[in-house]
Amino acid sequence: MIIARSAQELREALGTRIGSVGFVPTMGALHIGHKTLIEHARRENETVVVSIFVNPTQFLPGEDLSKYPRREEADFKICELSGVDLLFYPDVGTMYGRDEVRITAPDVRGYILEGSSRPGHFDGVLTVVMKLLNMVRPTRAYFGKKDAQQLALIAQMVDNLFMNVVIVPIDTVREKDGLALSSRNIYLSPSERQEALKLSASLKAATKMVMQGSVDAGVIQNAMMNILDPLNVEYVAIVNRRFEAMTHVILGDTIVLVAARVGTTRLIDNVWM
Ligand code: AMP
Repeated sequence: MIIARSAQELREALGTRIGSVGFVPTMGALHIGHKTLIEHARRENETVVVSIFVNPTQFLPGEDLSKYPRREEADFKICELSGVDLLFYPDVGTMYGRDEVRITAPDVRGYILEGSSRPGHFDGVLTVVMKLLNMVRPTRAYFGKKDAQQLALIAQMVDNLFMNVVIVPIDTVREKDGLALSSRNIYLSPSERQEALKLSASLKAATKMVMQGSVDAGVIQNAMMNILDPLNVEYVAIVNRRFEAMTHVILGDTIVLVAARVGTTRLIDNVWM
């Protein structure tokens, strides 16, 4: 596995490659969810590139940028063992200069739900993903459905700006008990981890209701809120694939999302129906 730290090193390492390139951008502290994205990229491409970069522009003031888990050695090993050909591991100075051009998230879709709780977050996400895609120039880029709104906005950016890359969505990987894997789960104490199961439990209940024919969004949201109680819920939302609010679930075009704080840790989860 080649490790590139600068744009120049990345260019040189990519220069010798032929065939399709699969790209998995991450912020590190890699877990089985990331590994699953890498495995998909490995199966579908000649070359696999992973980036690890904790992107400062997508953190709001007061968020966990400085304490976000950083695990260089373990991450390198996971990449190597997963068959990654090229690891891009830039520092902030490589990715950003002063007074730069930025990507702005769309006014509505970029500022509801996650964008409402974290205004400006998606500007940072889209800007860094644009930079990374331009640097790596992949055939396919892999993103988790766990970050559903992020995935939708990246797909929209690629479409709106006529970018030449295929965005591949990957299903959320969960622990046996339902908890969606996240680098932020390590912040949870044992009792908080137990409380965190309420997110996936509420989504499971929503799925069950829909399967039994109860498709009214308000009724489903109420049932979810009861399960989530007493967590500090930021939103429970039922939207279509374009992130427009739905009054009723339509199978094949619905995402049910939840964001809640467990102690001081902010967690998100969702289910695609
Ligand atoms: P992050 O390092 O949290 O920025 O995540 C990097 C990529 O991994 C994003 O596309 C995430 O959506 C994806 N990802 C994170 N957690 C999971 C999970 N539990 N299952 C599948 N993909 C995930």
